[in-house]
Amino acid sequence: MASATPSFTLTYSDLPPLFHRRVEADPVADPAWVLRNEALASSLGLDVEWLRSNAALQALAGNAPLPGASPVAMAYSGHQFGGFNPLLGDGRAQLAGEWQAPDGTRYDLHLKGSGATMFARNGDGRATLSAMLREYIVSEAFAGLGIPTTRSLAVVATGEMVYRQRKEPGAVLTRVARSHVRVGTFQLAAVNRDPEALEALLMRELARNFPPAPEGLPPARHFLRSVAARQARLIAQWMCVGFIHGVMNTDNMQVAGETIDFGPCAFMDRFHPQKVFSSIDQFGRYAWDKQPGIALWNLTRLAESLLPLLAEAQEAAIDIAKEELAAFMPAFEQHFEEGMRAKLGWRGADSDDGERIAGIFRMMMERGEDFTLFFRRLTRVAAGQHPEDVELAPWRERAGANPDVTAMKAANPVYIARNHRVEEALAAANAGDLAPTHRLLKVLARPFTESDGDADLEAPPTPEEEVAQTFCGT
Ligand code: AMP
Ligand code: MG
Repeated sequence: MASATPSFTLTYSDLPPLFHRRVEADPVADPAWVLRNEALASSLGLDVEWLRSNAALQALAGNAPLPGASPVAMAYSGHQFGGFNPLLGDGRAQLAGEWQAPDGTRYDLHLKGSGATMFARNGDGRATLSAMLREYIVSEAFAGLGIPTTRSLAVVATGEMVYRQRKEPGAVLTRVARSHVRVGTFQLAAVNRDPEALEALLMRELARNFPPAPEGLPPARHFLRSVAARQARLIAQWMCVGFIHGVMNTDNMQVAGETIDFGPCAFMDRFHPQKVFSSIDQFGRYAWDKQPGIALWNLTRLAESLLPLLAEAQEAAIDIAKEELAAFMPAFEQHFEEGMRAKLGWRGADSDDGERIAGIFRMMMERGEDFTLFFRRLTRVAAGQHPEDVELAPWRERAGANPDVTAMKAANPVYIARNHRVEEALAAANAGDLAPTHRLLKVLARPFTESDGDADLEAPPTPEEEVAQTFCGT
């Protein structure tokens, strides 16, 4: 069947040139489909027939432009592990086009692994199949969990090998996001002392991804407040599923509030609050329990960048920034407690809940409980399907005789993207077998629903299966 060719745009290039650079095509040898997310395409109103076409294959491999769009590499700055880098950018990625869904929402289509740009420094501009599949699997797991996230539309094999710790097949991922503007994009305008560029970026991001400012609230202040509010909720959502992002650098924090950049991230198996996975995070900067503090640190960098727009006098601007940032931790704690109350089936709110929740986590750590299975077991206890475990007395005391089992079932996933399962699927994919990847994607799309024959995907790793570290930038 002939399909109508969808039409894309690229409004990002209307921003001042500071923010983007032209990309020359760097074609790959032999593009071939690995995964297509047809459910996502449908939900975006993107023609599935087109997505199946050779034209789409060539475009999503970076071999041809998307119809109507000339790709750009996005420029940004960033604090990476605390050190500032004034000029970063899409080194191996490109903003290939923007798509407007039937409801009017605009989405970026971003290719990762599509070739070296002027930001590549010494990089080869490519990505491994395993790293792109990892991002596809984990981002789709997030979508299944209902946590704001960038999505994955496709993975295309390049027919070329890339050289990392070893030789691996290469691939290009198509990432779909509400925005690719990061805290680091604002830092770029700030470090270049370009208030006009800063304002243009602010107004574009506000118009595209935020509701109008309430009467009397200046745009920059409305923006800072909204970004902080979204991050407070997002980090709480991550922590409630035991997720560790791994590289919360300012260039990996998207201001629209979607989880972005799934590199050395993971869901915890055995609970420990200081757990990290990233091979390059030697000091635990981005550990599970450090994430709210790091988010606030990043938001403080955003606030600094926005100072010229917050007020004319710097003193006044700093006061406004401080006031807005002061709302972050209380908002995070409120979301986290709310999320935890749902996981624990506790009805209503009580001023001692924060302390009680901390106590539950201490107990989980001491016992070495598996994060996900602990809450699953508790859900069964609450539903009366399991003999009462006497050691859960502090939980029962607060839950009472009638815990909110419905809330627990909706908050405690059966399936998470367990690291050892993801690694197993990636190894199989590298050997040409996508069946384990498809099986994982199927359960992760409906993570709160038990499915027949998939009990093995719930199980934590055996000591031999445990994955200690995940590698990034690959
Ligand atoms: P990431 O770890 O994906 O957030 O990447 C950090 C920075 O390094 C970004 O600016 C990337 O574009 C760049 N980068 C990572 N891998 C490569 C590569 N293979 N070739 C060129 N640039 C890369
Ligand atoms: Mg990044």
